[in-house]
Amino acid sequence: MPALPGARVISTCPINRSVFLSLEANAVQVNRWVVLKFGGTSVSRRNRWDTIGTLAAKRLADEGARVLVVVSALSGVTNELQAIAHGDRVAGRIAALVERHRAFCTELDLDPDTVLGERLDALQALATDPRAATRPLDWQAEVLAQGELLSSTLGAAYLRSRGLDIGWCDARQWLTAVSLPNASEWSKRLSVNCRHDGDTPTRERFAQQPTRVLITQGFIARHDDDGTAILGRGGSDTSAAYFGALLGAARVEIWTDVPGMFSANPREVPDARLLARLDYAEAQEIATTGAKVLHPRSIAPCRDANVPMAILDTERPDLPGTRIDASAATVPGVKAISRRNGIVLVSMESIGMWQQVGFLADVFERFKRHGLSVDLIGSSETNVTVSLDPSENLVTSNVLEALSADLAEVCRVKVIAPCAAITLVGRGMRSLLHKLSDVWATFGEERVHLISQSSNDLNLTFVIDEADADGLLPQLHAELIRGGAMPVNDDTVFGPSWREVVHGRVPRATPWWATRREALLEFAQAGTPRYVYDLDTVRARARALLATPAIDRGFYAMKANAHPAILRAIVEAGFGLECVSLAEIEHAFASVPDLAASNVLFTPSFAPRAEYDAAFARGVTVTIDNCEALQRWPETFRGRSLWLRLDLGHGEGHHEKVRTGGVAAKFGLPLARFDAFVDAARRLGVRITGLHAHLGSGIDVPGHWREVYAKLAGLADGVGTIETIDIGGGLPIPYTPDAQDFDLDTWRAGLAEIKGAYPRYGLVIEPGRYLVAESGALLLTVTQVIEKDGVRRIGADAGMNALARPAMYDAYHGIHNLGRLDDMQLATFDVVGPICESGDVLGRDRRLPAATAEGDVLVVADAGAYGMAMANTYNRRALPAEDVIG
Ligand code: ADP
Ligand code: ASP
Ligand code: MG
Repeated sequence: MPALPGARVISTCPINRSVFLSLEANAVQVNRWVVLKFGGTSVSRRNRWDTIGTLAAKRLADEGARVLVVVSALSGVTNELQAIAHGDRVAGRIAALVERHRAFCTELDLDPDTVLGERLDALQALATDPRAATRPLDWQAEVLAQGELLSSTLGAAYLRSRGLDIGWCDARQWLTAVSLPNASEWSKRLSVNCRHDGDTPTRERFAQQPTRVLITQGFIARHDDDGTAILGRGGSDTSAAYFGALLGAARVEIWTDVPGMFSANPREVPDARLLARLDYAEAQEIATTGAKVLHPRSIAPCRDANVPMAILDTERPDLPGTRIDASAATVPGVKAISRRNGIVLVSMESIGMWQQVGFLADVFERFKRHGLSVDLIGSSETNVTVSLDPSENLVTSNVLEALSADLAEVCRVKVIAPCAAITLVGRGMRSLLHKLSDVWATFGEERVHLISQSSNDLNLTFVIDEADADGLLPQLHAELIRGGAMPVNDDTVFGPSWREVVHGRVPRATPWWATRREALLEFAQAGTPRYVYDLDTVRARARALLATPAIDRGFYAMKANAHPAILRAIVEAGFGLECVSLAEIEHAFASVPDLAASNVLFTPSFAPRAEYDAAFARGVTVTIDNCEALQRWPETFRGRSLWLRLDLGHGEGHHEKVRTGGVAAKFGLPLARFDAFVDAARRLGVRITGLHAHLGSGIDVPGHWREVYAKLAGLADGVGTIETIDIGGGLPIPYTPDAQDFDLDTWRAGLAEIKGAYPRYGLVIEPGRYLVAESGALLLTVTQVIEKDGVRRIGADAGMNALARPAMYDAYHGIHNLGRLDDMQLATFDVVGPICESGDVLGRDRRLPAATAEGDVLVVADAGAYGMAMANTYNRRALPAEDVIG
């Protein structure tokens, strides 16, 4: 550890020469404090304690502030103590805790008996305490307090051994629980609030402690009866905040295992973005609605005392983290999405008249009687439904039974649990509703029990069954960004993604069109709109997918782009072709010389019978997805081999309109009819040789295809004739500037693993977009640049007629001024086309050269998939031209 300027060495450690420093007493302001709180993972390893010592010494040296260190128990210890408090395998658990703390002492080069002897005796004595038999709340509180008492004691001893002059204090001398009206006995002991209005005498008394640095416990406080009280799970953050307010601290720093508050739990949503700056109100809302990183009660004390907060990462102490204070600019938009589990819904149906006078008073009086605080409320004329949050209430089955019995006197009661509450938090939620269409559509597929919009306009909450919430957050987070509701481009608020923090930002390769600027400008001379495709990009993507050992065959979904040169390049790379119409089949055979029928797959939707007959006559592999075709057209299918497309019950993908599974989608045989199909096929002598599912397009969860294979392989085992499993396409490409390349390695690893479990089937993929999207650039010419009511628009000579994706799916495509790529003078424009539709917008709020003018050439990036394929002649505008290079 380097020596700090102006500091005096008070001792050195002979073991690793690490040195902690203390300042001359007069260099430090006696009454100026910085509070540093370290969570469980931040105190469980030796190197973390070294970081704690360094940080404390640095605050002393750099800021001349005294330092109060507040610590949690070692990670996992409070869970064990909670089990002990509930009487679960008490002796064994205590023995393990004793052993763990002794071992950690040894790792810290401390003598366990000297440092922790008395504390460990106290822990063991609690098991033999007469109260252990009945486990009253005061005894439970004492049990729970042991974790923080142990960790702070051993931390103080270690830091002293490293040369830091640190004092230990008992938090219960300073934090006093306040009894809130109507609180239950449980919350008065195990989920308390504390007094935190810092008066001068208290501050002076606190400042009299002899050392510059002090350590104390989070989570614990003094009860009215002078016994121990507990601040609730995760409450060490709140202890730090109380101390911060009590001492009028310069800052409260919460040190944890992530570098700040993120736009979603980063462990669940790797693309969650760091929230660099928040005001107290938004931070409060994010914490209350489930972001465990900050205890919900920790914000109010700091806000009331105007103490700024920071959330920082002990593993990566140099990252700037999240700052929370009163001066953060208020930026409209969704900042975070959070989830709380274990929510209990209580639905109460009035048994009297509609809008019966006093009904609400009657029911809420009973919640009060049971000391239960209500979180969300939904109501109609005859029903009121409320939610109970388990972090604020003791919601055991006994409590719920007693509550239900009381409520039954005035209404019909139904308890729905466990539920999950998923909340969008941000400023101005009401004005954002139009940007949430995808989010509503996603919830539309779930059973939503309750929707609640907070009266402060800071949140919108959906309550669904807990099981349905799994996997939903990454999808919703992506939808919030895509729909523009989460303004991630605003770098005053949004920092890097968790993925970038962990892996570093993987620079994306320069797109091919940026290296072929002159050639493209020349193409544009020949007239625009014009698509140009780079075949080298197509070949590279094809090779990358086929270099996946688990994959046996690939069929290119040619609907994405059927340019003959692209079809030939892809077939040469080793792919077959997947067609969805007879015309596509004919185009495939016409475009690719010597294309074998075995290289063609026909997967139509609601096609006429004649197309199936023609496809069988051509010898290609046919996929069907319903029983009706077999029943109505037995002669078409009798004795044939075919593949069956299944609907696995849910859709995935970048937009509602590209999700191809679930009740709302027209594709696939529902699983419930699988057996009926197999029987019908058997009766016609039809051999089902392949099972297929394709649940959507632009799916950014690499584990998705592994799941599809697992599901289909499980079904295939019961059929007996299946040779091939076709897991569809849907691989995404990074359209937006902050998106990362698809994680092919994780995708491959998932497929390898599942193929290992079911090796007997050939594994087939059907990508379209992934192979061709990035190969295509759409060239347009600027027609007019116009300002209207403060909005500047660049008009191009084609819009939704040439590229329908933005209008159809709100899709994002990068748009650049090809002749002015290096221009630094940027301005914000909407880029629009010439079609007489308000929806003819290719991109909104794009930063483009301020000098953009009539005649400039624009390039619309990543337009190789579903670009020309969906182009049309609406308004009698001509179709774009097409060129190929490479
Ligand atoms: P500590 O033990 O340091 O108090 P916690 O486990 O209580 O740490 O809180 C940190 C954890 O909070 C993170 O590891 C992360 O999994 C979780 N978390 C949940 N939501 C968020 C969010 N929105 N931002 C950051 N972390 C979050
Ligand atoms: N140790 C306590 C818990 O795990 C308090 C905390 O860590 O914040 O809940
Ligand atoms: Mg915590």
